[in-house]
Amino acid sequence: MLNIILFGPPGAGKGTQSEKLIKKYNLTHLSTGDLFRKHITEGSDLGRQAQEFMDAGNLVPDSVVIGMVEEKVKNETNSEGFIFDGFPRTVAQAEALDRLMQENGSAIDMMLSLVVDEEELLKRLLNRGKISGRVDDQNPEKIRNRFAVYNNETTPVAEFYSATGKLFNIEGVGDIDRIFSRLTETIDAIV
Ligand code: ADP
Repeated sequence: MLNIILFGPPGAGKGTQSEKLIKKYNLTHLSTGDLFRKHITEGSDLGRQAQEFMDAGNLVPDSVVIGMVEEKVKNETNSEGFIFDGFPRTVAQAEALDRLMQENGSAIDMMLSLVVDEEELLKRLLNRGKISGRVDDQNPEKIRNRFAVYNNETTPVAEFYSATGKLFNIEGVGDIDRIFSRLTETIDAIV
């Protein structure tokens, strides 16, 4: 099993790099943002619970997120490992993930954190909003709120993994393939 958390602010390129990493290492991609958007499209109860928080750029409550992740991990019985993308976003989520991994006889191997400055992130997100139609990517004020939520609630998660030597910072600006190489070099040096 290889379990990686791909970490970083909104627009850091987690989705793009996850797609490449799951192919190379044969992993399961678990993006909580993607799962919520799927629930919203399907009109499920969970989607209804998440939507107002997402549209405002706030975090969905931990209990809702953790329950959804537990279900997904437990259903993927044949997986060779996971890339967690957009999760954990709070220390409570990180603690729940550690427990869940332990119950599965497994563990988080590393957190790879994509480092990108806010000016570049804002540019990328507004551009993504035009292409994807995602409401939370279209309004600069909502985007700023997501940065604030990230800085206040999510950055402590990096400290959580740093304490056990599992955090690796990766420069996230520049050519997509070059960033991918930085990630794979880091992974291959550890596993
Ligand atoms: P981004 O990383 O660009 O913000 P995501 O697709 O990961 O995009 O997340 C979009 C929104 O979904 C977040 O702003 C938040 O409302 C909700 N969300 C996703 N993952 C989580 C999580 N782990 N905890 C709480 N809310 C989440």
